[in-house]
Amino acid sequence: LSGGFKKAWDKLSGVQQLTQENIKDPLKDIRRALLEADVSLPVVRQFVKKVESKAVGTKVIRGIRPDQQLIKFVKDELLDLMGSERAPLEDPTRRGEPQVILMAGLQGVGKTTACGKLALHLKKQGKTVQMIATDVYRPAAIDQLRKLGEQVDVPVFEMGTSAKPADIARRGIQEAKKKKVDCVIVDTAGRLQIDDDMMTELKNVKKAVKPSDTLLVVDAMTGQEASSLVKSFNTDIGITGAILTKMDGDTRGGAALTVKEISGRPIKFVGVGEKMEALEPFYPERMVSRILGMGDILTLVEKAEESIKLEEAEELQKRMMEAKFDFNDFLKQYEMMTSMGPMGNMMKMMPGMGEISNKQMEEADRKMKQAKAIIQSMTPKERENPDLLSSTPSRRARIARGSGNTEEEVSNLVVQFTAMRTKMQDMTKMMQLGQGPGMQD
Ligand code: GDP
Ligand code: MG
Repeated sequence: LSGGFKKAWDKLSGVQQLTQENIKDPLKDIRRALLEADVSLPVVRQFVKKVESKAVGTKVIRGIRPDQQLIKFVKDELLDLMGSERAPLEDPTRRGEPQVILMAGLQGVGKTTACGKLALHLKKQGKTVQMIATDVYRPAAIDQLRKLGEQVDVPVFEMGTSAKPADIARRGIQEAKKKKVDCVIVDTAGRLQIDDDMMTELKNVKKAVKPSDTLLVVDAMTGQEASSLVKSFNTDIGITGAILTKMDGDTRGGAALTVKEISGRPIKFVGVGEKMEALEPFYPERMVSRILGMGDILTLVEKAEESIKLEEAEELQKRMMEAKFDFNDFLKQYEMMTSMGPMGNMMKMMPGMGEISNKQMEEADRKMKQAKAIIQSMTPKERENPDLLSSTPSRRARIARGSGNTEEEVSNLVVQFTAMRTKMQDMTKMMQLGQGPGMQD
């Protein structure tokens, strides 16, 4: 997968504006990568369309590379899809009634295990919990829940295998109310495939317990069938969210995306193992990283996001355009860059930058530090008025002494700075004449 995304990246380097044409291939790669992560096809289609419409026409500015910009759209859109906030359980508003959580899902996905995990989770919040066993098709299913109940020290209500699930559920709730239990978790039977019997039974159980949450338990490995699965359960039963299990495996968990997009309901928890402790809240950010699986590239985008305050960058850009760029701006730009970590690390993370040697990077780092020291030895007036330095050797001599550099080094910086500014001015003029394509150097 990560190979796919890297390919998409390389195609974009050097581009100044995202267009339908130049993001076509990268989007194809992204589409393929999402399918590989088991995101359902209709969801992928919708997703790629959204990213495209957002990205096209975007100018690449603010120190972010075009490929970063596209990947940021992808990331934001993924986050958006999964819900940027963590989704808690519903707060039951009916006073004096217990919080009831109903589990639903196919057989073997981890419903019963999730009941135990959730029971432990709620207990840790200081709540009293009771579980109800309504899977009457196998005696082993009731035993399983009872054992889990013992493990987490939560009582299990059951009536053997001869009662009807809805009746067991109703009686279980009565019992919980009598005992003034805070939370009730209702385990149900699943089938290998969606069928009417299962849905009817679930509907009846739901009616009997009036849950505050109905959680669809989904195996993270569910592939393309996730979208019809989610659709059926949501249409027939109505869900308030989902638990994505078996995320401890090496699956990319594309089903997470499908659940949210198809049902509009969030993933509330993630199962990460067979133990009762192996339940986590759902962190959309982590899931995005997992689905993208881009390691370094994603880290780079995150760092860029943290460090580059947009207004600051915009202001800087404006000053460049107006040719007001002075040593203060230069310093600011430097600080923005260094707040992202040493230059060397930054450049190593850039795809295609592998050929830059350590020595070259050290040299670039050293140059930047030297420039900073020199600028810091300037008076405020000199920083605002770089021309003062071009015209007055005695100023350069003073700055050299103050910063511990030679006069030649100071002169070099001033010459470089002036050349850069002239270039900016030329470019601005060109753009004002409508000839310039952009910020190429
Ligand atoms: P149910 O049929 O939906 O009730 O599924 P179970 O709760 O009986 O779980 C089926 C199998 O999946 C059991 O062997 C569980 O131990 C296992 N399982 C459940 N959740 C997880 C999980 O998050 N990670 C892993 N690795 N295994 C899990
Ligand atoms: Mg079960």
